[in-house]
Amino acid sequence: MSSVAIVRCGQYEQAMVDQAVAKACELGAMPDVKDKRILLKPNILSDAKEEYCITTHSAVLRGMIRHLKRQGAKEILVGDSPGLQKPNFKPKASGIFQVCEEEGVQWIDFTKQPRTYTIPYAHRKKLPLAAVLSQVDMVFSLPKFKTHQLMYATGAVKNLFGLVPNIYKSPCHVQFPTRRQFASLMVGIASIANPAFCLMDGIIAMEGPGPANGFSRHLGLLLASCDAVALDYAQARIMGYDPMLVPIVSEGIRRGLGDKPSSYPALSAEDLIQEDYVRIKMREHTGFLPALSIPSIFSRYIHWNVKRERKAPVFLVDPCIRCRKCIDICPAGALTMVDKRIIIDPKVCIRCYCCHEVCPASAILVDEEIPS
Ligand code: SF4
Ligand code: SF4
Repeated sequence: MSSVAIVRCGQYEQAMVDQAVAKACELGAMPDVKDKRILLKPNILSDAKEEYCITTHSAVLRGMIRHLKRQGAKEILVGDSPGLQKPNFKPKASGIFQVCEEEGVQWIDFTKQPRTYTIPYAHRKKLPLAAVLSQVDMVFSLPKFKTHQLMYATGAVKNLFGLVPNIYKSPCHVQFPTRRQFASLMVGIASIANPAFCLMDGIIAMEGPGPANGFSRHLGLLLASCDAVALDYAQARIMGYDPMLVPIVSEGIRRGLGDKPSSYPALSAEDLIQEDYVRIKMREHTGFLPALSIPSIFSRYIHWNVKRERKAPVFLVDPCIRCRKCIDICPAGALTMVDKRIIIDPKVCIRCYCCHEVCPASAILVDEEIPS
């Protein structure tokens, strides 16, 4: 049974969050953690101040750590690997590193000696994942409730992509260019991580052009479940989507990673639908080829079709601070800086929108943000 607990929590006041986390964990049937070694995976994406709503709020992480301590966990570890992470990265802007220090739990660098896994459902792709994965008893996914330009929503399943050390992430977009293919990769990684429990920060969520450049949206909710797919299903429902049209949700159910929620012990997602939530517009699915084994003969056709379906990003001159992060992350090598301006080669661009995710200055427009 895939039960999803949704509880109210109006603000990030720590005592209030602690109480709401404990309630969500109880109603969401968190497994027994006594004497267990647990890895907490918050969504950091690009370490940013909490008011930008990009990262899982530090108060939610702290609430989870405190609850696990009360339940007798032996050791708690926290980690993530944002796309443009520098060596010895510590998430200080988001306050997450400070919470780790204050609560006496260890921050883990996922880039250190990762272990290579064969990812199921993804053409048997081999990818390095954080070494700590094989050293803990349980993984907890702690996502942020956010829209996502490529996947429409990012939740408990997508959050586990952070187990892939930074430099290996963006090239995945080249090999898995369609939404459906990328969803298969996400589900494959999640099936290896096998999260025992998920707690989503939806107190202040993100709407509009997420996951990094959207707008804050007060929902006042925490969502919890042992089933990552069911949790993402509930999130998509609250956002106002048909969850079965969200590729990660439908792929997760198709692959048996999780299921639709069969019970809501507190609030129901059906009663919480936000009709006016600023969603990413759904595009037609590239259903002409399944995301199974695709011979390379078709790959040029797939890339052509992705380009036809999605617009190349547009780079604004005025807000650009010339940090070059977009150039550094672009897996296709489509960007250059000429005369202090970012120039894109639309023929090379694969429309992965990684540049949009890392731009700290909202200087990149993608998809429906682009004026026609
Ligand atoms: S320019 Fe942006 S959207 Fe295009 S391939 Fe590079 S990172 Fe992806
Ligand atoms: S990431 Fe944004 S601000 Fe930085 S160079 Fe690219 S467009 Fe400019």
